[in-house]
Amino acid sequence: MNQPLAPTRVGYDANDLRAQPPASAPAGQPAPVLSVVIPVYNEEDGLAALFARLYPALDALGLRYEVIFINDGSRDRSAALLAEQFEKRPEVTRVILFNGNFGQHRAILAGFAHCRGERIVTLDADLQNPPEDIATLLAKMDEGHDYIGSIRRQRQDVAWRKWASKAMNRLRAKLTRINITDQGCMLRAYSRDIVSLINQCGEMNTFIPALAYQFARSPAEVVVGHEERFAGESKYSLYSLIRLNFDLVTSFSVVPLQWFSLLGMLISGGAGLLVLLLIGRRIVIGPEEGGLFTLFAIAFFLIGLALFGIGLIGEYVGRIYSEVRHRPRYVISAILERDHG
Ligand code: UDP
Ligand code: MG
Repeated sequence: MNQPLAPTRVGYDANDLRAQPPASAPAGQPAPVLSVVIPVYNEEDGLAALFARLYPALDALGLRYEVIFINDGSRDRSAALLAEQFEKRPEVTRVILFNGNFGQHRAILAGFAHCRGERIVTLDADLQNPPEDIATLLAKMDEGHDYIGSIRRQRQDVAWRKWASKAMNRLRAKLTRINITDQGCMLRAYSRDIVSLINQCGEMNTFIPALAYQFARSPAEVVVGHEERFAGESKYSLYSLIRLNFDLVTSFSVVPLQWFSLLGMLISGGAGLLVLLLIGRRIVIGPEEGGLFTLFAIAFFLIGLALFGIGLIGEYVGRIYSEVRHRPRYVISAILERDHG
């Protein structure tokens, strides 16, 4: 405990994106069994409570662990609180400081790129998932599973979010064949193999649990607790939730585009029949009059459909664009970790 601690490796880490071998433990220091990865964005009110519950829960597991906090460009005192915690428990704490807000999933990706454990658990900083449930995940892993998802026992969120995520879960399961019962819960455990595979993916926008599910040989799920946010409020607005769900569907499936071409074929087939019918009618009965509003209704419907289709293609094009730019997924301004040298 009394060893001098110096924050090390302070600097720019833009090329952190691509496949990296798992960061190896410093000489003479055995690699931890468990890495806990926690993204933090403006959580100053809840961090003290998190530390107070997380560390005892991990100590109780009786295994070598490390906790990696990623400060995702918080604008409050979160970074300072994390640095303080690092001073208190430097042997098991590491802090990655981003120089801006890059989003929860990229923060977790940075944690994955730097963690050393054989098993990796992700956890939110807001105490919505009890840290004590990590033991449940690890016990399930002992049964030979390489990826453990979680289902919230009693979800403590506002009603519209429960309803919307149920509907979205169903749609996503159909579109992507990824069967995650509860996509919103980030308390999950991954084996080192899965995390290495995820580290090899250079995607800009992704949804980590779905990516892991695709790589997993033997995925399983357990039921975990869910509490109301200890402090602060959700960082996801309706808008960012819609963005996240677009990421989830378009990153894992092109079925929406295929639906569109099928729909286009059906509609043009139907319209062709209508034209034939009108020609026949004209020959047999004579020209029709009126029907103006019916025409409007049909036209508006088709215009709406066309706009949605263009927007959908835009979603994919936008994603392709952000991939081909090859910008860094995140920029690290500093890493606080014990100097073992
Ligand atoms: N988070 C983050 N960057 C962001 C948004 C959120 O690192 O841009 C973190 C946040 O601090 C929390 C976790 O991601 O630890 C989940 O966020 P939140 O609790 O707001 O999401 P919700 O539980 O409402 O889905
Ligand atoms: Mg939350």
